[in-house]
Amino acid sequence: MEPARRIAPTAWMTAPETVAVVRALEADGAAVRFVGGCVRDTMLGRAITDIDIATPDPPETVMLLLARDYIRAVPTGLAHGTITAVVDHKHFEITTLRVDVESHGRHATIAFTDNWLEDAARRDLTFNAMSLAPDGAIYDPFNGLADLEAGRVRFVGAAAQRILEDHLRLLRFFRFYAWFGRGPFDSDGFAATKAHAHLLPKLSGERVQAEMKKLLAGPNPLRALAGMRDCGALAQILPEDGSFDLLRALIACEEAAGLKPDSIRRLAALVRGRATEPLAARWRLSNGDAARLAALAVPVERLDQSFDARAMRRVLYRRGAELTRDLVLLAWAEAGATKDAPWRVMFDEALRWLPRELPIKGADVLALGVAPGPAVGELLASVEQWWIEEDFKPTRKEALAKLAALARKGA
Ligand code: ATP
Ligand code: MG
Repeated sequence: MEPARRIAPTAWMTAPETVAVVRALEADGAAVRFVGGCVRDTMLGRAITDIDIATPDPPETVMLLLARDYIRAVPTGLAHGTITAVVDHKHFEITTLRVDVESHGRHATIAFTDNWLEDAARRDLTFNAMSLAPDGAIYDPFNGLADLEAGRVRFVGAAAQRILEDHLRLLRFFRFYAWFGRGPFDSDGFAATKAHAHLLPKLSGERVQAEMKKLLAGPNPLRALAGMRDCGALAQILPEDGSFDLLRALIACEEAAGLKPDSIRRLAALVRGRATEPLAARWRLSNGDAARLAALAVPVERLDQSFDARAMRRVLYRRGAELTRDLVLLAWAEAGATKDAPWRVMFDEALRWLPRELPIKGADVLALGVAPGPAVGELLASVEQWWIEEDFKPTRKEALAKLAALARKGA
């Protein structure tokens, strides 16, 4: 395979950790290359997230080569030929070149190879099949670079067959469209999604979750989701989806507020008003994600534009800064993202909020001679109520005085 072009090695390629791993892997003559997302993102001038390296050496050799240079190696996916090297907290996934021998829609039986073209051919999309030598030579056997520049998301090989081999690729087609796509969908690819959308329920919830969260966090999830709806994929994995209008408005609000995209917040917009437990179970959402989704999809606080800073502080005390900020954003989006002034006041209050704590504790109640029991909690709750109504201003001294007064009244 001839390189398609050359780039000057970038900072992550010449970083000492990267150089150490490459040097170890190439010590006995093998040539390694960077593969997958780090190559694609480098060609786009984007920051890279993780570094994947491919090598013709089998995993046992990779382990030996790393050990020889005292590099920590974790056999993260030995059956698939993957070893993670760790240098100074930086992780490198090193995978032996492979071919899929037999695929079953969910899992493939693989074999190792020393052929770079075979390894590229089993990858999903043309721009994910590029590889990059440590000296900056780019290998691009399926013209992924041209596709990337044109915003074309295209399968390597025949789309229908690639989706039949691994149904996750159907979601990845739309996930990468949400990030890098422009213009119409590739017609071969889209036709294949339509023909095979019914296979999606065979995928594990975890895999669906991972792709959908990445799709939702992309710069253009709306076009991707519209495609998924048109081909029938959304009905298979997200029958709760509602109107896209709220998501569209939310994205506008995120931009106006200078917030980073957040997949759970965006998902909540998509399923607004619907019960989210079935979805959380299907996608195996973490407890944290499931709780956030539930609280946002059917809002735990109904906010409206009449809330002033003081009213907001009460919500903030109950719900915390992050959830309140998201509730504001969604309410703002629901109001049409038009008049933004009142929402901005509410939003700014959330940004400013520092967690507060009631300045008295149970021990203070007991110190007044109140017997342990439900009365202690009731007194604390009464003081807390008063303290909230006083806009969290009372000091410990004032709160103790209030407590003493209430305890006298109760006794
Ligand atoms: P990200 O930046 O989200 O990590 P990525 O391209 O690195 O993007 P990964 O899911 O980490 O995506 O996969 C790494 C590479 O492995 C891909 O670029 C692609 O070449 C290949 N790949 C991953 N999943 C599949 C799949 N289901 N079928 C074929 N190739 C795949
Ligand atoms: Mg990756």
